[in-house]
Amino acid sequence: MNARFDTVVIGGGIVGTAAAYYLAKAGKRVALVEKGRVNGEQSSRNWGAVRTQGRDPCEIPMMLDCLEIWRGIEAELGESVDWREQGQMRIIYDRAMRERAEAFMPIAREFGLTTRILTPNDVAEVLPHYDPRDCHGALFTPTDGNAEPEKAAPAFARGALRCGATLLEHTAALSIDLWNHAVCGVETEQGRLACEAIVLAAGAWTGRLLKPLGIKHPCLWVRGTVGRTGVLPIELRKLVVWGKCAYRQRPDGRVNIAVAEDGFHDLMLDSLVHGLKFLPLAKRNWRNLRFSLGKPTMRSLMGEFDDFTTHRTLDPRPDWKGLAKAAGRFVEEYPGLGSVQYERAWA
Ligand SMILES: Cc1cc2nc3c(=O)[nH]c(=O)nc-3n(C[C@H](O)[C@H](O)[C@H](O)COP(=O)(O)OP(=O)(O)OC[C@H]3O[C@@H](n4cnc5c(N)ncnc54)[C@H](O)[C@@H]3O)c2cc1C
Repeated sequence: MNARFDTVVIGGGIVGTAAAYYLAKAGKRVALVEKGRVNGEQSSRNWGAVRTQGRDPCEIPMMLDCLEIWRGIEAELGESVDWREQGQMRIIYDRAMRERAEAFMPIAREFGLTTRILTPNDVAEVLPHYDPRDCHGALFTPTDGNAEPEKAAPAFARGALRCGATLLEHTAALSIDLWNHAVCGVETEQGRLACEAIVLAAGAWTGRLLKPLGIKHPCLWVRGTVGRTGVLPIELRKLVVWGKCAYRQRPDGRVNIAVAEDGFHDLMLDSLVHGLKFLPLAKRNWRNLRFSLGKPTMRSLMGEFDDFTTHRTLDPRPDWKGLAKAAGRFVEEYPGLGSVQYERAWA
């Protein structure tokens, strides 16, 4: 395939599909290339939260604009993405957490957010099956929202197609062509796509596409895990709760439970190359970060991740031990359930 576009978008996650949609809607000739399938990687796997709560002040104006977009997204795209504005809650268990919650209140007031601090009784009112025994209150922002990650990016991709974009799945971008220091095309598995601009939205792979251009984009992979229970006979009001683990009830009654505090960094070649840059961040989060030396280490040493066609969809192994711990913590907060089983899990 040899074709000319105004913009080639590389990567079919939420960033790439939304960019393709808005560009195509604005009348640009757009190609969206995806090495696997749309929404195969991180964008279908996150918690789906759209939040202002707990943000750095410099992020909040953007998140307020973002909430406006999400409020109108189902009308805009003509399909459901399970958008709900039911709030974001972070439960407080100790003095340090209360201090952090109180420190956010002046920021919330500055930006006119709906955030407030709840008492344990308020928490039990919002979450009728919650056992507030260990709870000292909660930070709550009722106007934060969430959408279903499995639905959002595909809805944007369909919107982009309706606006005339070309979608090429199972088509990896292999390299970016420059002419006189300006972008002029993308080499893909299906041939060259000439273009005037590129939106590089390749998620975890972005740095690898930039490297041959001499652009350093330090990025290390961290593996987080989420599990989905069966339908649970409790009402969680479909909000996002950061309790002893993080959870969100879906419209069908199933609950996504995240191993909120633990992320795994599989040591790879990049860990050595970029590791020093991330030391301050790792130091701040050392309690929540686990390092592992295993198959991904070997695979990276053998160059497996240098090629965009080896992993059409990056699908890391979930942390089942962490999930069992998270289920235990969830049941501590909802003892009436007895126990919970996962129907599926991903990372
Ligand atoms: C555990 C966890 C929870 C999170 N929860 C939230 C949340 O609640 N709310 C929130 O807003 N964010 C959350 N995030 C962050 C959010 O998931 C990411 O910021 C977002 O999904 C990134 O989207 P993306 O489009 O940039 O990347 P991705 O979704 O990773 O998409 C990149 C795409 O590019 C493709 N690609 C890569 N290389 C090539 C190539 N060479 N050629 C063609 N295609 C290529 C990949 O196959 C992939 O499909 C969470 C993240 C984690 C890890």
